[in-house]
Order: sequence, then C-alpha cells, then structure tokens
Amino acid sequence: MAKLLIIGAGGVGGVVVHKCARMTDVFSEICLASRSIEKCHKIASQIDRPIRVEALDADQVSQTVQLLRDFKPDLVIHVALPYQDLHIMDACLEAGVHYLDTANYEPLEEAKFCYKWQWDYRARFEEAGLMALLGSGFDPGVTNVFCAHALKHHFDEIHTVDIIDCNAGDHGLPFATNFNPEINIREVTAKGKFFKEGSWIETEPLSEQRVFDFPEGIGKKEMFLMYHEELESLSQNIPGIQQMRFWMTFSQEYLTHLRVLENVGMTRIDPVEYQGQKIVPLQFLKSVLPEPSNLGELTEGKTCIGCLIHGIQDGVKKDYYIYNVCDHQESFKEVKSQAISYTTGVPAAIGARLMVQSKWMRRGVFNLEELDPDPFMEALNEYGLPWKEIIFKEGEAPRIG
Ligand code: NDP
Repeated sequence: MAKLLIIGAGGVGGVVVHKCARMTDVFSEICLASRSIEKCHKIASQIDRPIRVEALDADQVSQTVQLLRDFKPDLVIHVALPYQDLHIMDACLEAGVHYLDTANYEPLEEAKFCYKWQWDYRARFEEAGLMALLGSGFDPGVTNVFCAHALKHHFDEIHTVDIIDCNAGDHGLPFATNFNPEINIREVTAKGKFFKEGSWIETEPLSEQRVFDFPEGIGKKEMFLMYHEELESLSQNIPGIQQMRFWMTFSQEYLTHLRVLENVGMTRIDPVEYQGQKIVPLQFLKSVLPEPSNLGELTEGKTCIGCLIHGIQDGVKKDYYIYNVCDHQESFKEVKSQAISYTTGVPAAIGARLMVQSKWMRRGVFNLEELDPDPFMEALNEYGLPWKEIIFKEGEAPRIG
C-alpha cells in the first residue's frame, strides 16, 4: 500500500482525487495540496474517505520538501501547472519521493515547452533510485501508449502518426477553455510544428486546417495543426518514423474570441504597467475567465482523441486508428468534472497505480511509450476510458493530406 500526495486542486486534480480514492487496494492515504486550500476542501468533501488537505505554494521547493517530509508519501502526482514541474522534481529528489506529471515544463516568462529541462534530470533520478513519469494525461499520455501498443501489437514499422484531438462538447458559454486558460491560450497561439523525415517544419499558428470525420456520431469537424509535446518524445522513441503531426478541433466561436483577444493584446505574457503596477495581460484574462473545474455541470457532448497510424506489418501496408470517446455528462455524473479533466485525470491515476504496483517502476525519467503498454491499456478499459481500434481495408482509411 502506498501514500500519495496530489498537488493541484483544479479540474484535473479533482478527477485524480476521485479516481485514486477508489483505488483502496493501492493507496492507503491521500493528501491533496494546492495554492488555495478552499479548493482542496471542496474536492475532499466530495470523497467518502478521509483526504488530508494542505495549502502549498509548489514554486517554493522548501515548502514542498517540508510537506513531503511530514506526510512521507511514496509518490507525488503533480497536476498543478507546468511552471512547477522542475520545482516539484527538485523537492522529490530532496525528499526521496517518486514523481508523475501530465504536462512538460514551461518557463513562466516564455511560451515555450520542451522535454530537455526534465530529461536533464535522468541521471539524478537514476542515482536516487527514483522514477519520474512524464506526461501521464491523455495527450500527452494515452496517445503515447496508443503508439507503443500499435508498435507492439500491430506494426513492424510505423511510418506516419496523426494524433487527432476533438472536443465536440459545448458548455454554452461564449468563451471558456477546458483546461487551465493560461496554459491553453499559450499553447494555441504558438506556432505549429510537425516532424517530417528527420526535421521539424514550422507553420504559422492555426494556419493548417483539415476536416476529419469523427466516429460514434460526432461527425465532420474542422481541425488545426498544432505543436504538441508528445511529438518530441515519440519522434525519438518510434524507430523509423517518417512523419508525425498533431491536430486539434476548435469551434468558430472559440477562434473568433481568441483572434480578438490576441488582436487587442490580452494574450500577451510580458508584464505591462497598469495603475502603478505590473500586470501580465494573459494572467489577468485568466482571472476573469471561467475555471475549467466549474465547467462540468454545463458541458454536454463528447471528446474523441486518438491516433491514425500508417505503417507495415509482415511486409504489407497497414492503416490503423485507435481512439477513445468520452462523454462530458457521464464524466460529470461520475466525478463532478467535464471530460477534458476526466481524460487527463484518469491516466494520471492509472500511471500512479502502475508505478506503486511496481508494474511500471523503473529508475530514472520516462515518457509513457518507453514502458510496456499492456497493463496501461488494460487499465484504461477498467477505469473509464475504453478504447477502440479499427484496421482499415485497403483504400478505406481516411486520408488527412
Ligand atoms: P486548473 O487551472 O484547473 O488547476 C490548476 C491548479 O493548480 C489550481 O488549483 C491552482 O491553484 C494550482 N496551482 C497553480 N499554481 C500553483 C502553485 N504554485 N502551487 C500549488 N498549486 C498551484 O488546471 P487543470 O486542472 O485544467 O490542469 C492541470 C494540469 O493538467 C496543467 O498542467 C495542464 O497543462 C495539464 N493538462 C494535461 C492534459 C493532458 O492531456 N496531458 C490535458 C489537460 C490539462 P489556484 O486555483 O489557487 O490558482
């Protein structure tokens, strides 16, 4: 049995607490710590077993170390913000605790993310006999495991991967983001980038657009090419990969609001002078936008996230699609959150479960595709994110172009 510290009491944190609290066979005690303790209390009050709550500023390494030494968890699930990744990894090394997150490190003052900063911790985690599991959400996370599963069971060589993320849900509000608004807007307004034949090709933000016909009644939606962090690790870990891209759907209403906000300077991340003090426009914007954790009751519809993969098996070309469909209202009924938080929180809980069960425990820093996909794929079906796979007959696979 293991003791678990969860950091971050937002939309994803709520789902992680709900899911881990039900895993009574592996987690003996759970503590939830976040910047605002009221949010921890609110989540803890929804759970029918005791959850310890603590106020914590995880940017302060010494505060986190103090909590780790006091509570003595075996593992930290970090679902606060990417800015805290390195601070929490430092604290875990100091206190001798395993680490898991769902998003790679991003410096506050620059809208840029890459794994280098966290991969640089490999030797230190190895020497300390600890594990850090990076990006155990849906994308990154499940999409990485989908690729590992495809490579293990369906292909001798994978040539192209298109990761396709569709949120066909509707919260009825003119503009809201389904995960942390600051991180979401930094990601969506960044340049696109994809991997092709050993190089990275950059595109203007949201300039590449296609239509994809999504399964299970979702139908045709416009999707846009973006850069996403799993492309970085997967392009290194899938031998012989020729092309890898990431696509996300957005409604016209979301795009129109975003364009206006950008045009008037509200998505800027550099400080501006306002009434004698410095404020960052995007941080101010976040404070007036709806919180992802409050969208659960409002959101209807489904998400569909998956990988369209092309390659070779037994010398024959193969087209394959693997995906999960998740229903916003079903998620809300189960854990009081919308499906984006749900599809992120469940894989975090599964990753933690596999680590403390020793099925995935290794020394060092790992992305999910480096580990055996089988127990994770099995757990997805068991813990609420069932997946489906389609092997297309020749000529029937959707072509993205
Ligand atoms: P929210 O904004 O809903 O929650 C973030 C929480 O972290 C808030 O409770 C916030 O506290 C807390 N927090 C922020 N800074 C600190 C700090 N310094 N110390 C302690 N707590 C802090 O975000 P989400 O739940 O939507 O997202 C959580 C994480 O999940 C993000 O990193 C996001 O990028 C990632 N994510 C990953 C996905 C994937 O598929 N891999 C998909 C979606 C999200 P307060 O409320 O007081 O500000």
